[in-house]
Amino acid sequence: MDAIAFASAPNPSHAPFTSASSSGAHRFSVRDPWRRRWRLPLPALRSQRLEPASASHHDVVVVGAGIIGLSIARHLLLHTPLSVAVADAGVPCTGATGAGQGYLWMSHRTPGSDTWELAVRSKQLWEELAAEVDGLGGGGARERLGWMRTGSLLVGRTSEEMATLEERTKALSQAGIRAEYLSAASLHALEPELYVGHDGGAMFLPEDCQIDAYQAVSLIEKTNGSYSSEGRYMELYNDPAVSLVRSETTGTVEAVQTSKHILYGRKAIVIASGAWTRTLLHSFLEPNPILDIPVMPRKGHLLVLEKFDKLKLNHGLMELGYVGHQVAKSNSTLLPSESSEDEHGALSISMTATLNTKGNLILGSSREFKGFSREVDKSILKCIWDRAAEFFPTLKNVHLDINENTEIRIGHRPYMPDGKPVIGSVPDLPNVLIATGHEGSGLALVRALYKSAPVSSSFISYCSWS
Ligand SMILES: Cc1cc2nc3c(=O)[nH]c(=O)nc-3n(C[C@H](O)[C@H](O)[C@H](O)COP(=O)(O)OP(=O)(O)OC[C@H]3O[C@@H](n4cnc5c(N)ncnc54)[C@H](O)[C@@H]3O)c2cc1C
Repeated sequence: MDAIAFASAPNPSHAPFTSASSSGAHRFSVRDPWRRRWRLPLPALRSQRLEPASASHHDVVVVGAGIIGLSIARHLLLHTPLSVAVADAGVPCTGATGAGQGYLWMSHRTPGSDTWELAVRSKQLWEELAAEVDGLGGGGARERLGWMRTGSLLVGRTSEEMATLEERTKALSQAGIRAEYLSAASLHALEPELYVGHDGGAMFLPEDCQIDAYQAVSLIEKTNGSYSSEGRYMELYNDPAVSLVRSETTGTVEAVQTSKHILYGRKAIVIASGAWTRTLLHSFLEPNPILDIPVMPRKGHLLVLEKFDKLKLNHGLMELGYVGHQVAKSNSTLLPSESSEDEHGALSISMTATLNTKGNLILGSSREFKGFSREVDKSILKCIWDRAAEFFPTLKNVHLDINENTEIRIGHRPYMPDGKPVIGSVPDLPNVLIATGHEGSGLALVRALYKSAPVSSSFISYCSWS
């Protein structure tokens, strides 16, 4: 067997655009801002020294052009008469969105959980978008969205895992999702190159789909951009938000100051800056423990093997161990450096594998807390590769040169300790809304609009786009 050549590989992803790092350890405690509202201090904005800047007026200003911010803008443009401006410190896909693997799967969702309805509705809306794009002809959703209905396999290798998968299959079926429990033999018929041992098997969701995050973003940008000519849309890239501006007469937040502009938002300002949201709020507001949203960057590596023809993959795959990763510690491969990790969870790798429309094999993924570092860690890539080879023994015979025909994606998932997105308006700043904390599911939980609700990690509130 040949060794993998992990020679020096430059990070092909976007250059860092900010050196923000998570600030000191804050213990997050769940608060109920509604009950305590009368006692809350009014959030104070940090003093602003406004440089001369061009000003523009909009109904809604969105900070962050990741999948969340752009989708919020898209919805407002398509379904309301409102005008929207989107500002980003970099360009779309600079953040976690550009690293996304692209699965929109229900297999790792739990019926009845806080995010269940959001996931169901989001999936339905992606399906509608794909159908709409298909209706336009040409290459359809496959070509313009990277859309594939590959189905997903959640894979287990032990009898304990199989018991969990059996229960999960029942629960999803009862919730109306097509799900099948597969023994090792049935799984082999579907995915001949996958090895799960005699005790293993899978849960199969034939309706699960995937997209390409870059293509999806580009499609959304195109839709949004089509409203520019009628004066309803403006995008400002490479122009970070630096402060909020309060009205001298009403005291309400009326604008976002970026490095070059002042963007007035008559109706709302939406902060959708992913893993940067906590740092951004710290820079916007005077210290206020109620508003300390403990969203943290959870770094992930993905390994993309371009036009990889040494493995035939018929479906999207994920190991069962992934399911626990989004919130808690992993029970899959733990790296030797685990002991150096903080209380929020171990550095972990769990196998995910998808093949995209271009024939690229995408292998994931890692999770670790390393601030906003964008450094490529070759030992993590090796772990991702080795983990995949446990499931696909044929990879053990493949010589992989990390510098040849590979792309390494790095992104920072916006992680919340309780695993729920933070969605809602900021207490006492009702026209400022937060939309972050989607961790490893931002593509799949994207299509929700955020209605007024207090910000709390234990409180999730949304209404769907329609
Ligand atoms: C390796 C990996 C694989 C993943 N795979 C999947 C998957 O298969 N399916 C899935 O559903 N999810 C997946 N995810 C998760 C998903 O990518 C994220 O949940 C989602 O992209 C978060 O979107 P966002 O818009 O909140 O954040 P981001 O995409 O990070 O966007 C935030 C934006 O805010 C901008 N910003 C920051 N500071 C400022 C400022 N001061 N002013 C203006 N703008 C600012 C940033 O430039 C950035 O563009 C994956 C994530 C990773 C890392």
